[in-house]
Amino acid sequence: MDLKCFIAILIGKLVFFINKLFGRSGTALPGLVAQTIDKNILFKLSSALEGKTIIITGTNGKTTISHLLTHILTQSGNKVLHNTAGSNLERGIISLYLNNFSFISKKRYDLKVLEIDEAALNSLANKLKPDVIIFSSLFRDQLDRYGEVNTVRDKWQRTINQLPDNVTLILNADDPGIASLGVKTNKKTIHFGICKKPAQNSEPFSPLDFNRCPLCNHPLNFKYHTLSHFGDYSCRHCSFKRPVPQVCFELTGNKTIINADKKRSVLNTNLQGIYNLYNITAVLTIALYLKKDLKQAIENIRNFKPAFGRQEKLQFKNKILTILLVKNPTGFSEVIRTYLTQGKKKDVVILLNDKIADGTDVSWIWDVNFSPFTKSVNKIILGGTRRYDMALRLIYEGIDRNSLVFIEKADEILNQIDAFDSKDLYIFTTYTALLTLEKLFVKNNLKKKWED
Ligand SMILES: [Zn+2]
Repeated sequence: MDLKCFIAILIGKLVFFINKLFGRSGTALPGLVAQTIDKNILFKLSSALEGKTIIITGTNGKTTISHLLTHILTQSGNKVLHNTAGSNLERGIISLYLNNFSFISKKRYDLKVLEIDEAALNSLANKLKPDVIIFSSLFRDQLDRYGEVNTVRDKWQRTINQLPDNVTLILNADDPGIASLGVKTNKKTIHFGICKKPAQNSEPFSPLDFNRCPLCNHPLNFKYHTLSHFGDYSCRHCSFKRPVPQVCFELTGNKTIINADKKRSVLNTNLQGIYNLYNITAVLTIALYLKKDLKQAIENIRNFKPAFGRQEKLQFKNKILTILLVKNPTGFSEVIRTYLTQGKKKDVVILLNDKIADGTDVSWIWDVNFSPFTKSVNKIILGGTRRYDMALRLIYEGIDRNSLVFIEKADEILNQIDAFDSKDLYIFTTYTALLTLEKLFVKNNLKKKWED
């Protein structure tokens, strides 16, 4: 280790210590200070910290995949370093590494599980020295920040091509944008997805973000869809088609079967929605890559508790609140499909913010499929900085404007919820509103999770 790096680590650790002394929990500052002293600090720390590095990236599913993976690896006795706080940009990762680096060189972790922002991946991939990268999904998301899906895909492809040949790619076979990353590369690829056409196949519920071939731009031919543009597809012009997944899920009646390593197992999980079956299958594909006991891994999924805002349930008086993070048309449409298309009418809360972390352009709400709201929802509480944009969107969908209740401040949410009849309430929230909500729940002692 060179002197510059040594000083950067030392000062970075000092910033951590001072932060702690003043009760601050900031995750970026120590990383920022260390990076200012040594701009190659991340690469050096990645080399110094032992253990395989697993990167998880993509539009949707990153947080659930990384938390679930950490859960099953920890349960099987591994020591895992994971950016749990969601600091998925460079400074956050440097801080994580600094905090866990020891000058006394002994192995402290078996694996590093890193959730990485899909745009940040392009500048971080080389520095993090990954052994494996999981690409979960590619949807239109914050177009003003990330760009269109083809732009994101092409940047990923260039990043992959610059990585050493020993990096393994774990790819979603059913997402043409993701699967196409494995075509023009000499890296080893492993695919996950659905095993075969589901018995109940319906028209796509969420918008299709890929209906043209990512490689030649001719229209894709779909045999069926599972979720947005996920499904079984082939290109009418070039030879690109859905690869056969090595790990897959099968929907049979009310059971879900996992097919992996030539074995079939019944899956028991509290995670709902087909998008979570993709997340779970991605995690099991990593488990297979790591040569873990798959039967045990599937068993350990049963007692997994979701991360905050990812189908997390809280109890408030006699009600159960389900918190659902929404950030793009497909994600929002799919949580609506999962929660509102069956059962009796419900009350819901929608919090729409337009801060930088949410995306300042909220026009994406016009691509969300809100049609179930007309039949499945009683009252709708609307909050957040762009609540009136959301109201307009819902009124255009045919929602009675008298069913809309507006709140000015987050503090009013609990009073409003209390006045509602519903015992089950769904809160759809964008990212920065979720952070406000978290503070509110902690303040009101609702932090304890509802146990199913
Ligand atoms: Zn093609």
